[in-house]
Amino acid sequence: MDTLTRQRGDGAPSRGTLDARPDGPAARAHTTVPRQVDRITGVGLPDGRVVDVDIEGGVVVAVTEVGGAGLPDLANPGPAVIDGRGYLALTAPAEPHAHLDKALSWGATRPPGCDLGAAIDAWRAFSVTVDEDEIHERALAAARRLVASGTTAVRTHVDLHDDGDPLRGIRALVRVRDELADQVDLQIAAMVGDEDPADRVRAALEAGADLIGGAPHIAPDSIAETHRLIDLAEELGVGVDLHVDEFLDGDHAMLTTFTDRVASWEPGRIRTAGHCCRIGAMDALGQASAAEALCEAGVGVVTLPITNLYLQGRAECTSTPRGLPPVQGLLDGGVTVGAGADNVRDPFNPVGRSDAVETAMLLVVAAHLDMDTAWHLVTDGARDVMGLPPAGPVPGHRADLLLVRAGGLDDVIADAPVDRIVLRAGRVVSATASVVVDPFLTQAHSPDLQEAP
Ligand SMILES: [Zn+2]
Repeated sequence: MDTLTRQRGDGAPSRGTLDARPDGPAARAHTTVPRQVDRITGVGLPDGRVVDVDIEGGVVVAVTEVGGAGLPDLANPGPAVIDGRGYLALTAPAEPHAHLDKALSWGATRPPGCDLGAAIDAWRAFSVTVDEDEIHERALAAARRLVASGTTAVRTHVDLHDDGDPLRGIRALVRVRDELADQVDLQIAAMVGDEDPADRVRAALEAGADLIGGAPHIAPDSIAETHRLIDLAEELGVGVDLHVDEFLDGDHAMLTTFTDRVASWEPGRIRTAGHCCRIGAMDALGQASAAEALCEAGVGVVTLPITNLYLQGRAECTSTPRGLPPVQGLLDGGVTVGAGADNVRDPFNPVGRSDAVETAMLLVVAAHLDMDTAWHLVTDGARDVMGLPPAGPVPGHRADLLLVRAGGLDDVIADAPVDRIVLRAGRVVSATASVVVDPFLTQAHSPDLQEAP
């Protein structure tokens, strides 16, 4: 499958430019020329079956068991047939909460502190120095990393700016969305601050943003700001995705305001609450009450383990809290829940692989989910929160598939195998494989070593 892979040409960020950064993206961030797939033969499913998967028009039309021997029907192999032997077919992940405009800026920002306030200050100081092209370069690289690891749908929050062109982040991400239109569904939420006037928000939507976002919990009057953002969403006829209560101490009025306001919205209109860390610090009665309000209002919750484990709880040296909402409790209460990474290698989180497998692993160890539920949150749950149609190796579902060289889902989440083939709407958009090298042969071919005396 390596032959399917190539570095993207036009519009790609210069490798030299990015690699010059101390935290330059890994070379594995790449995409392929999308190629149609008609059939995947002999591929495994998480339930242990070995099947052929037939695809037409970007949709899975048949999943046919081929028997316990796992021998595929390769009588008529062709360029549109993938030999799936040794691979596991999974629903392709979705990233329901990214900040691609901030991604990969850690090396340039390096905040002196490590909590949310320090990260916000560091980003604001850095953001006045960046233009649309700089944001575009990092965002494109980050989006390609997501695709290479298997993610075929992304919702990114994008800052509006007080200086210069206030919409330069939105414009940069609209360019990324256009350039990667064949590889990934990209939703853009305008990250509205309380200092952003309404006309700036309207202009962001006109420039290409899909949703209204924001973080009212850090506004001077979080209740008033929550009402203002929902008023704007109703005026403009769009959905909302708000950062909700990304803290552990304090009241919880913003969540109630949010759920009260959107409870009467029509079904299907996007209403998402990201973070919700505070719910995890409430007692059992409070958690149940929050779950009931979220469920009745149809609000989808996005939990973001890697970033909130990094940012939250730093003031507590004893029994340090994890900063996550009670994920299993929300699920048990009927709430739609997805999971993502939030920030990747920026002032809010210096690490991260842009890989949903990493998020699933953290859900297992930090949110105490079982493997299947963890994987649900980064795939079907994330797609539900994003308002996307179902995907996966199921007849009638969109053929957004992640093929991983692994024996089962446990192996995927534990090992994060490198060998992956990514399909979006039935077309291969990325294929990667690990290679075995002979270190002595490699050194023998090094020009430096050959020239050494
Ligand atoms: Zn966020």
